[in-house]
Amino acid sequence: MNSELTMIPPAKPIIGQEERDAVDRVLASGMVAQGPEVVAFEGEFSTALAGGREVVAVNSGTSGQHLGMLALGLGAGDEVIVPSFTFAATANTVAVCGATPVFVDVDPETFTVDPAAIEAAITERTVGIQPVHLYGHPAPMDQIMAIAAKHELWVFEDAAQAHGATWQGAQVGTFGQGGMFSLYPTKNMTSGEGGMVSCSTPELARQVRLLRNQGMEKQYANEVAGFNNRMTDIHAAIGRVQLGKLPAWTATRQENAAFFDANLAGVVTPVVREGASHVYHQYTIRIEGASAAERDAFATALREEHQVGCGVYYPTPVHRLATFLTEVDLPVTEMLAREVLSLPVHPSITEQDRDRIVAAVNTVAKAGA
Ligand SMILES: *Cc1c(COP(=O)(O)O)cnc(C)c1O
Repeated sequence: MNSELTMIPPAKPIIGQEERDAVDRVLASGMVAQGPEVVAFEGEFSTALAGGREVVAVNSGTSGQHLGMLALGLGAGDEVIVPSFTFAATANTVAVCGATPVFVDVDPETFTVDPAAIEAAITERTVGIQPVHLYGHPAPMDQIMAIAAKHELWVFEDAAQAHGATWQGAQVGTFGQGGMFSLYPTKNMTSGEGGMVSCSTPELARQVRLLRNQGMEKQYANEVAGFNNRMTDIHAAIGRVQLGKLPAWTATRQENAAFFDANLAGVVTPVVREGASHVYHQYTIRIEGASAAERDAFATALREEHQVGCGVYYPTPVHRLATFLTEVDLPVTEMLAREVLSLPVHPSITEQDRDRIVAAVNTVAKAGA
């Protein structure tokens, strides 16, 4: 037991004086709901992370997915192809549109959706594909866009975990008809809660804006039945500061990951495909051949014997959650759900923390071998 060591947290949002000052500025203005800060945040986010595409700020990533796919016309009777190895929101947002998520398998090396599996799952009812840039590694967007074009499907990218990641030189969230970035506190940047919808056309952006605000562009001239999913100026002010800090944070995540790649032994380290830049929302290793219980014991040893926080994302594939319970054979997804373990890679860890993480993982791996 190293009880004198402090626990290294698995994730840690960094909120500084600039964020506090920005919030104060908004509070002092007396205008706290959606207003000029949101407009400014949308413009800055578009330039920095969405290749200049129009983006629409909403109150969560989940809202962004929901409104984005509603705006693409998703409804009852439709099917959308999604990976099962993801956070439940990817499939929930399809379901709450009245449509059916069709779960497919992923690539064992990058944890992202397998294009061949997408093609095999297309039916008469398929209208779209929702790839996930899981852990910050981009899905193979060239192949996915080619399949979508061939079958006349839309693509909505779940970029919740991948701000700034690129595939063949282009930023994620700029390939599909639409895409979503989450601004939840544990993501690569935050606004407190929040989401951004990237839109390929001004008309799609207009539809998302309508759905965000009760279906109104002009006050009391409601055009469609919409929601109140607006972002507040308080949240946008935080997000604007964070956006400026993101490049340095991403670089630190990548340095931390490179250190782990070079020094971890006895576990499978994450692969980065040629043509991809990985932004390491998570640094996810595999305990190869482990059962879920063995992987959980590995995580417990890291936490309790070495004070290294870690997480399992995601222990239950979405198709097996009570919400969906789908009979489908996804062997790679099942294997990853048993074997994955995410280590702290966030920009707050120190060089000493990195050394401690490596020593802890290598010791636990050796003991289990
Ligand atoms: C976080 C996350 C979401 C949802 O975003 P929120 O901002 O938490 O609503 C959706 N998909 C994935 C893959 C996520 O990690």
